[in-house]
Amino acid sequence: MIIQPKIRGFICTTAHPVGCAAHVAEQIEYIRSQDPITGGPQKVLVIGASTGYGLASRITAAFGCGAATMGVFFEKPSEEPRTATPGWYNSAAFTSQAKRVGLYSRSFNGDAFSDQMRQDVCQAIKEDWGDLDCVIYSLASPRRVDPKTGTIYKSVIKPRGSSYKNKTIDFENTQVAPILLEAASDQDIAETVKVMGGEDWQLWIEALSAENLLAPKAVTVAYSYIGPEVTRPVYRNGTLGAAKDHLEATAQRLDQIMRKRQGRALVSVNKALVTQSSSAIPFIPLYFVILMKVMKQKGLNEYCIHQMYRLFAERLYNGRPLSKIPVDDRGRVRIDDWEMRSDVQEEVRHLWEQVDSGNLPKIADIQGYNDDFLKLFGFGFNGVDYEADVPIEVPIAGLF
Ligand code: NAD
Repeated sequence: MIIQPKIRGFICTTAHPVGCAAHVAEQIEYIRSQDPITGGPQKVLVIGASTGYGLASRITAAFGCGAATMGVFFEKPSEEPRTATPGWYNSAAFTSQAKRVGLYSRSFNGDAFSDQMRQDVCQAIKEDWGDLDCVIYSLASPRRVDPKTGTIYKSVIKPRGSSYKNKTIDFENTQVAPILLEAASDQDIAETVKVMGGEDWQLWIEALSAENLLAPKAVTVAYSYIGPEVTRPVYRNGTLGAAKDHLEATAQRLDQIMRKRQGRALVSVNKALVTQSSSAIPFIPLYFVILMKVMKQKGLNEYCIHQMYRLFAERLYNGRPLSKIPVDDRGRVRIDDWEMRSDVQEEVRHLWEQVDSGNLPKIADIQGYNDDFLKLFGFGFNGVDYEADVPIEVPIAGLF
């Protein structure tokens, strides 16, 4: 099939298998170009392993530390005439590259929130590894089925307390437009915490612990976001922020379990980046396009893979004892340090105040955002022939 991008709102409904493979290869290449990470984990489970931060974590663990990896994700295979989702093609590319260099990888496509998935993964760890030394939790989902009750919870993005008005970007016509978000109800907040809070992460760690699959000194990390003043009413002080508060509180609880085995449970606060999940959040894309411009000008721009290399190499491993992992006053690892630098934020704030439809292309990196967005779906890579007829059915090696 000849595959072109088909954009609907904030998603692209097609994905290019060769382009997604190029995206994965680019990230592997970056990791290979860096100093190897010493003392890194050797048996790593990544929950949410097919796109964004989870995929970058899996690549860093495998190609930066030489780790065997298991990855859990929820992706759709192709079904003529529909292409597979990007995460499917990414995982196919990852596993084939891992296999080529003799790195173990096994993947599980299905609902990570379900007890069945936990059982399947635990069984595989028992059979193939005996135990593991790192669990990365990188799920981003709009809904969760509670495994005990079957209740479906939906996460929403709303401010807490009162409604909030500000500006956002309308990508259809590249205009800055006003947006009003209604205040969340108590139910909205509770449901978002159920989906994106720490409950499911805790269930995973408890299941692994109960089966005695956590090796001594094992580490588990989940990802959070804080962000600046301008996104605070909608993000950190909104429903998603409530979920992140819960995730961070869960890290403190899990740390007690992990420390008994000389290990750690931590939250890493990552940089705002264009991923399939984040592009759906109001305000955030307008903040991104301004942030990107400022960070590029200062030579500080990073993508998921750069962030994950810094997390593994400069925070978690490279001979550093687990008790010496640098954390903030709330026990969080911070790799959003460049985004949050005062000179960066001051300039972003200044530009945010000025931005309107007229000056948007000058003030913000619209082209960069569009390019990055399309890359998530495998489009825009040099060396990929987008006029070529390519097979859309691509198998994932080692798929459970
Ligand atoms: P993403 O959309 O790129 O990836 C989400 C992953 O979760 C995919 O692998 C997907 O297959 C998987 N997934 C979703 N539902 C699933 C389910 N039911 N079962 C199994 N797998 C499922 O998201 P991302 O932006 O990389 O976010 C990952 C984490 O990082 C989130 O906790 C997010 O809040 C956090 N984070 C993101 C940003 C950002 O700007 N993107 C910044 C800081 C922190």
